Amino acid sequence: MAQYDVIVIGAGPGGYVAAIRCAQLGLKTACVEGRDTLGGTCLNVGCIPSKALLHASHQLHEAEHNFAKMGLKGKSPSVDWKQMLAYKDDVVAGNTKGIEFLFKKNKIDWIKGWASIPAAGKVQVGDEVHDAKNIIVATGSEAASIPGVEIDEKVVVSSTGALELPKVPKKLVVIGAGVIGLELGSVYKRLGSEVTVVEFLDQITPGMDAEVQKTFQRMLKKQGLDFIMGAAVQKVDATKTKAKVTYKLRKDESEATLDADVVLVATGRKPFTDQLGLEALGVDISPRGQIKTDGHWQTNVKGIYAIGDVIDGPMLAHKAEDEGMACAEVVAGKAGHVNYDVIPGVIYTAPEVASVGKTEDQLKEEGRAYKVGKFSFMGNARAKAVFQGEGFVKLLADAETDRVLGCHIIGPSAGDLIHEICVAMEFGASAEDVALTCHAHPTFSEAVREAALACGDGAIHA
Ligand code: NAD
Repeated sequence: MAQYDVIVIGAGPGGYVAAIRCAQLGLKTACVEGRDTLGGTCLNVGCIPSKALLHASHQLHEAEHNFAKMGLKGKSPSVDWKQMLAYKDDVVAGNTKGIEFLFKKNKIDWIKGWASIPAAGKVQVGDEVHDAKNIIVATGSEAASIPGVEIDEKVVVSSTGALELPKVPKKLVVIGAGVIGLELGSVYKRLGSEVTVVEFLDQITPGMDAEVQKTFQRMLKKQGLDFIMGAAVQKVDATKTKAKVTYKLRKDESEATLDADVVLVATGRKPFTDQLGLEALGVDISPRGQIKTDGHWQTNVKGIYAIGDVIDGPMLAHKAEDEGMACAEVVAGKAGHVNYDVIPGVIYTAPEVASVGKTEDQLKEEGRAYKVGKFSFMGNARAKAVFQGEGFVKLLADAETDRVLGCHIIGPSAGDLIHEICVAMEFGASAEDVALTCHAHPTFSEAVREAALACGDGAIHA
């Protein structure tokens, strides 16, 4: 049996990135993955397939709503759902094969199967036990349902089932107005479903900047999504083809029901650590099921590390990737580091929503004096030219030092625009630094510069 320096368990964005970096740093590396393809939830049943469906359905929306305005006349395309799913599957296959290629290129052994850890330094897959000086657990997360709701992946689905529906449902009820609910809710709304989102809280996308939350919900309502806010789903009664969702309004405890062809349960995810044998090994687990690690991603058992969705922090592919690289560096004796203060969050709806750093509410809570530079995409020529003038960039900077503390964007390509501010924050930049940087015209990113100018003497196009 081969002796490995590192065995990574799980080939999602955390695990495969960790494996590649370990190999690049000269460590003999294997990665255990039980799925038929590499890439984990993100590539197979998460970020990538949902982006394919978001892209395709957005094209339909453009054809239906904006083509004629630009002189592109004719009937809007009809939806060939089978073909759309085939396109999505092609996108997934291209990406998962890409990881397989990278594994070969970096001489990483893919051990196929599901792993457990019988002892520190040992990884069992099927009947074989492999030796590893270090083990990195990167087994990700799974959908967390709520009491009274059983996911069957047919009528009551998680995001996984929602990417594989046999047809576009007439009535879709989404439980939870978080990232998954709104991204997939948008997809089906654009494809013709009646979509009702039931959310426990009084605002959508918990934790986001309050002004962004309000604007975002208004824009989604305009697109035709219905919201029932402040409502706790109590149960879902499902038959083979239909479901009834019972919810209770928090304000007066009144109960009501909704009929649906499909119910999407998007109420969060939980760490997936089943069958690893961590309890028997004595690995510390938090009451929320997360593996506890120190500042270097090491568990309380020497030589066993954990990264990504199985540990604390936002369940985001890019957070897992960063931890994967940093953990590999630590294992190789280097100084791996992740700056948890600068991890962007993006929702890939249209418009996109992106944020990094502190929200106004957080700064108020901290008692930190700050200033706000806000710029509407209405003042951005490029955005107006492509019917995307709604939304804004909001930059938050320290009132005294002008240091950038956070940024919240709702508008075109927000998920790309945010990175200018991520870099600025990594360099400890001031809003003035961003404002003094020449931005090409006409680009959406001029709106970011204008928000930075608004932190100083004022935006030009406001
Ligand atoms: P989420 O935590 O983003 O949102 C869940 C929502 O469900 C919350 O608003 C919550 O208040 C609501 N909720 C909980 N119980 C409820 C009940 N009984 N009735 C009504 N509403 C209820 O979770 P998610 O959208 O399922 O996403 C899971 C994870 O996956 C998140 O960590 C998310 O960041 C990640 N993810 C990220 C992206 C992205 O970055 N674009 C995409 C998909 C998923």
